[in-house]
Amino acid sequence: METMTTTTEIKFDMLGLAAPLLKAVSETGYTTPTPIQAKAIPLALRGLDLMAGAQTGTGKTAAFALPILQKLLPLASSSTSPAKHPIRALVLTPTRELAIQVEESIKVYAKHTPLRSLVVFGGVDIKTQTPHLKTGVEVLVATPGRLLDHVEQKTLNLGQVQILVLDEADRMLDMGFMPDLKRILALLPKQRQNLMFSATFSNEIKKLADDFLTNPTLIEVARSNATAENVTQKVYLVEQSSKQALLTQLLQADDSKQVIIFTKTKLTASRLSRALQKEGIAADAIHGDKSQKERIEALDAFKAGKIMALVATDVAARGLDIDQLPMVINYEIPSAPEDYVHRIGRTGRAGASGVAISLVCEDEEKYLAEIEKLIKRTIDKEKAEVKASARKTSHRATRGPAKRDEDHAIESNRAKPRQTARKPSADPWFDKPYEPAANSNSKVISSLSSTRKAPVAALLGGLKSGSPKLNK
Ligand code: AMP
Repeated sequence: METMTTTTEIKFDMLGLAAPLLKAVSETGYTTPTPIQAKAIPLALRGLDLMAGAQTGTGKTAAFALPILQKLLPLASSSTSPAKHPIRALVLTPTRELAIQVEESIKVYAKHTPLRSLVVFGGVDIKTQTPHLKTGVEVLVATPGRLLDHVEQKTLNLGQVQILVLDEADRMLDMGFMPDLKRILALLPKQRQNLMFSATFSNEIKKLADDFLTNPTLIEVARSNATAENVTQKVYLVEQSSKQALLTQLLQADDSKQVIIFTKTKLTASRLSRALQKEGIAADAIHGDKSQKERIEALDAFKAGKIMALVATDVAARGLDIDQLPMVINYEIPSAPEDYVHRIGRTGRAGASGVAISLVCEDEEKYLAEIEKLIKRTIDKEKAEVKASARKTSHRATRGPAKRDEDHAIESNRAKPRQTARKPSADPWFDKPYEPAANSNSKVISSLSSTRKAPVAALLGGLKSGSPKLNK
């Protein structure tokens, strides 16, 4: 890919990776490692414990997947005997969507090796996962709760795990997984390599690292509250009652582009997606009231390009990695400024260029000011002109018959106390609060943050300040 944030001097074939892995990497189209890959792969290959500061979107999955596969390669077996395929690497992720994505990537990188991988997560019948586990897999990707369910049912054995990855460790702690993590770690052999990835280095994360890592090497590639330079940000000032019309106008102005639209509430997400469908836009919603099956279907349809507009709440969108997403629209801006950073991080991944548009009404301007303070930049603002014809059809998503208090039931319920124990049958992803961890002052051994400014895509007829291009 041309628009990657990569290290210019280093190439994948300079990292000491084995031929089957290099072949798989080159088949994905990647030529140069991203900064986190260039830094983490050689260190992980040396068997060191790592504490890596990297968000989703930096290429961190390959940063741990490739060294894992490389280290397991000498043990790979083509035998069909399950005994020849014990679990040797365990990757823990906070959410099932992330688990699915990580395992998909591992499969891609392992495709020219006999190494097997599997993902297990809650919310689906455990019995469907057991036969796959029984055939034997070297790399297991799991959410903590479901992993423990399997441990209890004795459907897997962790006695031969040599490498442990804690992916998005800060989120795992935010979601109350610490007790589960402690239980899991106690089941693993003491002699093992640990790779921890976290977007932020809070004191809690440092404690986790102290407890479970051995002399970790600290690496970091980007500040957690920095918005990527390659994402063009734009605010349209608009009345609340005209937002839906403006959104339709924006989407219809550039109907070939896929977009994630963020709302604050599940109800608004549902209504908005229905309203867009009525306008003839292929839309669907992803939020906590949808079943796991519905969420996966919506995500798959979006990834396959069958859905153009995916309407999502903050919680539902966390961890989503969608290749080459050119645009994110904040239908409502978040009241927590850190969520803005997470949202717009859905576009401009791994250095590709992206556009993040926010529709802001008067009541939201105070939140906008908070966001600008956090990201330390002023976002270009323009008063939106909404076509009169479009405005007429614009009320459904924001002014439906439902009760106002229900409408404002914000999904990421920050006021709730942290959950400390796992509810076995519940879906913790949607019930638990999310508190972005504070930036820390961790001493960073190496910083490879080198985002290259990529050309801005001319979406919606261009995004120059004062551009009246909204009216077609
Ligand atoms: P991740 O942070 O692992 O979720 O990766 C973010 C995105 O970057 C994914 O879509 C990857 O497929 C992509 N990616 C990973 N490594 C590279 C690379 N070296 N060059 C280009 N894209 C990459």
